[in-house]
Amino acid sequence: MNILVINCGSSSLKFQLINSESEEVIAKGLCERIAIEGSRMVYTPKGGEKQITVAPMPDYTAAIQMVLAALTDEKTGVVKELGEIGAVGHRIVHGGERFASSTVITEEVLKAIEECNDLAPLHNPANLIGIRACQQLMKDTPMVAVFDTAFHQTMPEEAYLYGLPYRYYEDYKIRRYGFHGTSHSYVSKKAAELLGQDYESLKLIVCHLGNGASVSAVKNGKCVDTSMGLTPLEGLIMGTRSGDLDPAILNKESGIYGLSEDYSSDFRDLEEGYVEDKENCIRAVDAFCYRVAKYVGAYAAAMNGVDAICFTAGVGENSGFVRSLICKYFGYLGVALNEEENEKRGEALIVSTKDSRTKVLVIPTNEELATARETAALVQK
Ligand code: AMP
Repeated sequence: MNILVINCGSSSLKFQLINSESEEVIAKGLCERIAIEGSRMVYTPKGGEKQITVAPMPDYTAAIQMVLAALTDEKTGVVKELGEIGAVGHRIVHGGERFASSTVITEEVLKAIEECNDLAPLHNPANLIGIRACQQLMKDTPMVAVFDTAFHQTMPEEAYLYGLPYRYYEDYKIRRYGFHGTSHSYVSKKAAELLGQDYESLKLIVCHLGNGASVSAVKNGKCVDTSMGLTPLEGLIMGTRSGDLDPAILNKESGIYGLSEDYSSDFRDLEEGYVEDKENCIRAVDAFCYRVAKYVGAYAAAMNGVDAICFTAGVGENSGFVRSLICKYFGYLGVALNEEENEKRGEALIVSTKDSRTKVLVIPTNEELATARETAALVQK
């Protein structure tokens, strides 16, 4: 079955069409600047050239209409008709406490997602608009909601409660929710596969280090703690978010960008500066790595041990340099990196030595494939 995976942001929409049997990406793309002047669609069919179409997209319906037209286009399309798209999987940022797993979208589900709007005021409304627009254009196609928060719903109370008056939780649902759940779930399962061990008997720490960054502790197949909180601001130092401290006011100036005195929020630039001995770059990267190492230590303690530490997302997958700096903190866990393996890129790998007591894995995350799998599993029931 072909699954259309949709990820709606506040002015953009990313999409992939994935065949759920072969797990192949048949086409992918992005609509940018929706409802803003200068909107455009980038579309790449499998094996074909990237195409850029500049055209007005006054709303999400117009954007999705363009995506569907591209997918079914006589020349550059990948399916003959919309009927060949069996289901749509929507990435939804916040499912609150209501959603502990993906779910087929009904009117009642839409209402429940809307009730979570206060928890993710920038993301959930955009996600809902995306669903409505798809429903309008693909009336008979089943739709599934896949939540960023769902995987973390297994956290115990002691991990998700803040040290606040308990009524804040009862009355306003103020608690840790966690995000990047689709990625943490995908990567931890893949780690068990790579290790050839039973998912339900492993203690894993997953470091999703991208522009947004979070760590999670996954014990016996269940998330037991994660670093992001009520919002994605908490926890690690990120590209532009401060991490622990939560001064939302500094959102655009903090993180490694602020620490490097506005040098860059991109690790490629900071790594270059680090090697050239630039004090600001060393400061930013060292603070970032220290914070990751601190969380890994905390989660190893929370699980009373750890079998494997998994690195994923833009920095986690691509920067052997950053991984190596972080792993220097893990001597007490018996971590020994295989420096040669650690320099490789683009595939799931064990990058620690054979003798390393705790294993270190690099696993390219794939949130779109994970969303397509969840969607296929629900609509094929
Ligand atoms: P993501 O949010 O997962 O897409 O990650 C994006 C971030 O990954 C970028 O902002 C870069 O900081 C980082 N990144 C991507 N490629 C590399 C690379 N080759 N080396 C170091 N960092 C990278």
